[in-house]
Amino acid sequence: MSGQCRDTETATTKEHVLSVQPQAEALPPPPPLDAGKFTFVLLVHIVSLISIGLWIYGTITVSGWTLFNAFMCFAISSTTITAGYHRLYSHRTYRAAWPLKLFFLITGTGAVQGSALQWAAQHRDHHTFCDHAKDPYNINLGFWHAHIGWVIRQTQPDYNRVKDLSAEWMNRFQHKWFGPLSIITGFLIPAAIGALYGEFLSALLIAGAVRLVIQWHMTFCVNSVAHWWGSQKYSTKHTARGSWWLSFLVWGEMDHNFHHTFPNDFRTGTRWFDFDPGKWFIWVCSKIGLAQELKVTDPEKIERVRVQLVPSAD
Ligand SMILES: [Zn+2]
Ligand SMILES: [Zn+2]
Repeated sequence: MSGQCRDTETATTKEHVLSVQPQAEALPPPPPLDAGKFTFVLLVHIVSLISIGLWIYGTITVSGWTLFNAFMCFAISSTTITAGYHRLYSHRTYRAAWPLKLFFLITGTGAVQGSALQWAAQHRDHHTFCDHAKDPYNINLGFWHAHIGWVIRQTQPDYNRVKDLSAEWMNRFQHKWFGPLSIITGFLIPAAIGALYGEFLSALLIAGAVRLVIQWHMTFCVNSVAHWWGSQKYSTKHTARGSWWLSFLVWGEMDHNFHHTFPNDFRTGTRWFDFDPGKWFIWVCSKIGLAQELKVTDPEKIERVRVQLVPSAD
């Protein structure tokens, strides 16, 4: 995409050309482990498991307030990943006013999945080189590589892919200060909210660490599960798949096959009631003037593509 909005026809055609017979390509081995990323990801998982143990054995008190705190942190930062990092910054499926961008940049740090620049650069590579050597989370390197292996390896985002985004100072600021900002929004703010009702430690552990691990794996499932299981209603020229149950597993990134085929559409489920909090959030934002020019694929084109495809065995 090279930082510019592509029309759906061009994007789809390019993807398909690049995605022919991915298995025929000799793939290079995955990059070596990144000691820093590996240690951090492992540490958060260990802390989460210990936290659940402390909760089960009653060492820490986890009230309904802490569970609500954790759910809100989860819902807000997950919606930011789908509506902001994915559909705004990576695909430019709509235009957003600066207060909405500021909201995404602040809450996006709380998801601790890298800066918007890093996330979008790697995701644009994922679409352009899907299933090929330059796909950062190439499913042909195995389920676990696509799920979490790539996260803890020395991947090098190509920031030339996001020159349009790095032109905005807010994005550069978030990228520069991502580390400390993610500690503040991902851990300290949930804990500070917990302190207001007397559960600082529980909120730090449950709304911080446990919530983060659950959220990570839900997002990671888009790169692993959604390229592994499910049906291919719109294209078999890439490995992306979709299924109704997947929408609940991945916070509304419902039909990944639809998304890879029509990447400029702001939706992943075409029907209004398809579980897709990102789509609903963008739509609400458009009604209050925070989002404009929402891109929707021509329904006739979607149907034409769907009926032309020989049904897959799934
Ligand atoms: Zn995408
Ligand atoms: Zn994908």
